[in-house]
Amino acid sequence: RSTSVSVGTILTKLQSECATPLPVLRHVADAMASDMRAGLAVDGGSDLKMILSYVDTLPSGNEKGLFYALDLGGTNFRVLRVQLGGKEDRVVATEFEQVSIPQELMFGTSEELFDFIASRLAKFAEKESAKFHLPQGRKREIGFTFSFPVKQISIDSGILMKWTKGFAVSGTAGRDVVACLNEAMERQGLDMRVSALVNDTVGTLAGARCWDDDVMVAVILGTGTNACYVERTDAIPKLRGPNSSSGRTIINTEWGAFSNGIPLTVFDRDMDAASINPGEQIFEKTISGMYLGEIARRVLLKMAEEGDLFSKSVPEKLSTPFALRTPDLCAMHLDDSDDLQAVGTILYNATGVESSLSARKIVIEVCDAIVKRGGRLAGAGIVGILQKMEEDSKGLIFGKRTVVAMDGGLYEHYPHYRNYLQGAVTELLGLETSKNIVIEHSKDGSGIGAALLAASNSMYG
Ligand code: ADP
Repeated sequence: RSTSVSVGTILTKLQSECATPLPVLRHVADAMASDMRAGLAVDGGSDLKMILSYVDTLPSGNEKGLFYALDLGGTNFRVLRVQLGGKEDRVVATEFEQVSIPQELMFGTSEELFDFIASRLAKFAEKESAKFHLPQGRKREIGFTFSFPVKQISIDSGILMKWTKGFAVSGTAGRDVVACLNEAMERQGLDMRVSALVNDTVGTLAGARCWDDDVMVAVILGTGTNACYVERTDAIPKLRGPNSSSGRTIINTEWGAFSNGIPLTVFDRDMDAASINPGEQIFEKTISGMYLGEIARRVLLKMAEEGDLFSKSVPEKLSTPFALRTPDLCAMHLDDSDDLQAVGTILYNATGVESSLSARKIVIEVCDAIVKRGGRLAGAGIVGILQKMEEDSKGLIFGKRTVVAMDGGLYEHYPHYRNYLQGAVTELLGLETSKNIVIEHSKDGSGIGAALLAASNSMYG
């Protein structure tokens, strides 16, 4: 039938436009490295913001004592306390609580939001058990993970540029978020001090360091994506003021904004045009969890409309943006049954389509093309960062064991994605060098990382 020819044509075109052969990967890695350089040279010099974290005392693992962490990055916030035991015992005890933020507070005033956070933190702090111990006369110190765009001005202060992810709180933008939290804690009569304000990637890097001194890069692949790494201060031309005594600092790349040389299809361009931030975050839109399902849905819709993939009538649900989510892609991809029963069920539940076995096979091919591109480009991005570090420190990255700490739901749950990512890294670096590069899942390390950073930046030295 002519229709099936058309489905086949769309698939072949998709596969060839999404293809990431070695030269494409190499170009992406090189471009990532040079965009990093441009962003380090001068503010605004590149798609990559290369934000200074002011974290130049990396946790050594020797940190001891009781520290708190507060993580605000989405519709939940987490509070955590950890008793650090130094090199021998590392983490002696932890306790945490997750609190969902009432919808109305996401649209309220800054005072209301921070008062709520401070009051829940106060409640949590009251329930400290005997496993935790604060030396007499000391304040409790907090590491504050705040995953919104912040212009950091020191390790313990930063100005909120804008709320994202559905928050529309009035009165915070342009203010120091640490001051907002401190004032709220004072209103609540809570005597704690914020010692470190950190991005979640930076927290992940610091947390992973607790277990492994070779961690040099951290990457988040979840709803969105970002990466940070340990940089030499003498390689940061835009750095002014006194250099850190360690000669190193963590740079938050904000790599989601990268866009150089990424193979894009009409489906990506249409999705981008319909997004709330057209033209922005192109790397993120190609590799992160929020978008992979939506790209696939757009392909399937076209196959249904122009190629009769499913049946004559296209259900409305398939035309609904974000009806197909990345976890759906993953679950379909994992179906290894002969009749692809799970694929059929998931497709039906998510999009309302009835599918034949041959249609299901095509759906898997579509998922695979998009996820393969995403995973391989993420891998190329990681190699780009490592390559930049290697160029400035000959042999100190590729010539020895170097660890990349990974976190985020997409990396954690999608084995095909993980494999494609690792495959691209190996292809780019070659078998020998890639043996030195360890890509490691570091689950929920950012909370402990923030507490560790509060410890290494403690007011008590
Ligand atoms: P966030 O990035 O929202 O802070 P996570 O790191 O937990 O939180 O990532 C959640 C994201 O991970 C989801 O938006 C989704 O895109 C992706 N994800 C979650 N579960 C799966 C899964 N089973 N398969 C593929 N992707 C998943």
